[in-house]
Amino acid sequence: MKYRELGTTGIKVSEIGMGCEGFLLQTEEGYCRFVDLLEEYGINCIDMYTPDPDFRTNLGKALKRRRERFILQGHLCSCWKNGQYMRSRDLAETKAAFEDQLLRLGTDYLDIGMIHYCDSLSDWEEVKKNGILAYAKELKARGVIRAVGLSSHNPQVGLKAVQEGAIEVLMFSINPCYDLLPANEDVEELWNEKNYEQKLLNMDPERQALYELCQKKGVGITVMKAFGGGDLLNAELSPAKAALTENQCLHYALSRPGAASVMAGARSEDDIRRAAAYEDASDEERDYAPALAAMPKISWSGHCMYCSHCAPCPMGISVAEVTRFLHLAEAQGAGESREAIPETVREHYKVLPHHAGECISCGSCETRCPFSVSIIENMKKAAAIFGY
Ligand code: SF4
Ligand code: SF4
Repeated sequence: MKYRELGTTGIKVSEIGMGCEGFLLQTEEGYCRFVDLLEEYGINCIDMYTPDPDFRTNLGKALKRRRERFILQGHLCSCWKNGQYMRSRDLAETKAAFEDQLLRLGTDYLDIGMIHYCDSLSDWEEVKKNGILAYAKELKARGVIRAVGLSSHNPQVGLKAVQEGAIEVLMFSINPCYDLLPANEDVEELWNEKNYEQKLLNMDPERQALYELCQKKGVGITVMKAFGGGDLLNAELSPAKAALTENQCLHYALSRPGAASVMAGARSEDDIRRAAAYEDASDEERDYAPALAAMPKISWSGHCMYCSHCAPCPMGISVAEVTRFLHLAEAQGAGESREAIPETVREHYKVLPHHAGECISCGSCETRCPFSVSIIENMKKAAAIFGY
């Protein structure tokens, strides 16, 4: 298992994490078996959005004497009322639900305190007005959580929270279909077939900007809905009318700037094994480029998807990495000026084994790029901006 830095939180997460849905179907012994398997595969990050009391109690039992081996992502504002899940923005309810979470899990801290499911700017304002964000910060100051997070499906909300410096972790829905659509306050619209009837062209600029801003500001992204709830794996159900594999979905999400861990859902032990198998998958198995390029009515033409399908380069240049840093620098208005490049981007670029300036314009990469990206031009731009 590979581990990634979760932004600048100092927390290291396995790139394959685990959502909690699958646990809900388990017996008490099943929870232990699930946690055993996570340990076996090196999966250390568990998302716990559900406030289900049995889930919390059983997971707490399964984590006994090994809690510190896991990164627990708990949610604030996810409450249990009248026997069911409810999202709340009431401070007293939020505090009670969070304390219940700690108690049932048998721990005195969570690694990430995620402000739950905020999909509109007005809701984000309410989170602040009602004292929820202040409560999260207070928990952090007391050492009860290690990092403040926010979960959302709306790039505008993510951008606002990150720009305001309010959060250190963003849980965001990332998959190639969502990435095509503009921001919406209604998550259902992201899967509405009507939105996929017209020709869709390239990534939504706000989503791209959000990922780049997260990377620049050191906000770690934990990914949800990488498989679109499973629909992306089935050509009939996928809005793109073409199936992707699990490895392709995972690799797509993990290739976005800022992404640290994908919370893969698992309803069975086999699901956990298949998600963990990403670690041993070949480059060909992970490569999502041909599948994306073949999707009817959808085009990513001219837009680098960081897929590395254009490799190998005779000079050893990683076109995907160089282009990613080029975009990050350009997003900061670097243009031709080196001064505007953020220090972190400059440093990451520096440690690449080969740089854009080594490009000999042979063009072999361009013949392999399924998205007709002007790679030679991008290498020239990167060489001009970074200076080598
Ligand atoms: S240039 Fe094309 S093939 Fe290469 S990483 Fe970008 S999208 Fe993929
Ligand atoms: S054009 Fe440049 S980046 Fe592309 S394969 Fe040739 S040397 Fe490598």
